[in-house]
Amino acid sequence: MSPCDQCHAGCCRSFAVPVTGADIFRIQANTHLGFWDFVCRWADPDGSIALQHAPQFRFSDEPDTPFVICLLTDDSQTVPGTGKCRFLAETKATPDKPFGTASCSIHTSRPGACRAFPAKMTPEGDLAILYDIPASGRPGSHPVYSLCPRPWTPADIDPITQVQDLVVATYEMKFFHHLAGIWNDQPGPWELFPDFLEIVYSNRVRPANEALSQIEAASGPEIEARVA
Ligand code: SF4
Ligand code: SF4
Repeated sequence: MSPCDQCHAGCCRSFAVPVTGADIFRIQANTHLGFWDFVCRWADPDGSIALQHAPQFRFSDEPDTPFVICLLTDDSQTVPGTGKCRFLAETKATPDKPFGTASCSIHTSRPGACRAFPAKMTPEGDLAILYDIPASGRPGSHPVYSLCPRPWTPADIDPITQVQDLVVATYEMKFFHHLAGIWNDQPGPWELFPDFLEIVYSNRVRPANEALSQIEAASGPEIEARVA
């Protein structure tokens, strides 16, 4: 039995969830929601959202603020005054479950960061290791932000599918860092960011004789034209 079974999902309530372009297009395809329905930018001046994992983007409409691209949040229906991921589906509180239970409404298309949690790759990329998860995602705040009811063990992680998910999530975030480098060279306004992603990801499959680096060359003029 996973620690997540019957949990109120404090993780999906506590943390800003960084997304990559791949996450965004997968969720769009599977939910038919638009970019602005579920994506936001979170100001991250101290790096506490990026955590040296997600890239920070700059935008010309607020050039002094680094942002991380994340899922939108909304208000909890079962625990008034608290927040949650906009995709978290809650059940009503019961006497034995004061915060109810909760599940991801986009489980099959959830972001790589959610698939990977609570594991990460070693720096060498050859093994998965578990995070040391704190008691609360927001210490000193509401108890609904408490995290896993018991510690995770390696036996809780599927060594095939979950490690594969982790490898893909790590790769996609690395690619997103590459895109941040391109965007931040000449930042446009936030409102044009979806267009930038569309250009880059629609050019992601190339003829056999073209290298990945040519995405930048191919998309650069179009991006500049849109931002100008
Ligand atoms: S808080 Fe821990 S146990 Fe609960 S849903 Fe999140 S990862 Fe699973
Ligand atoms: S997308 Fe799903 S798994 Fe990820 S934070 Fe939201 S509800 Fe939780």
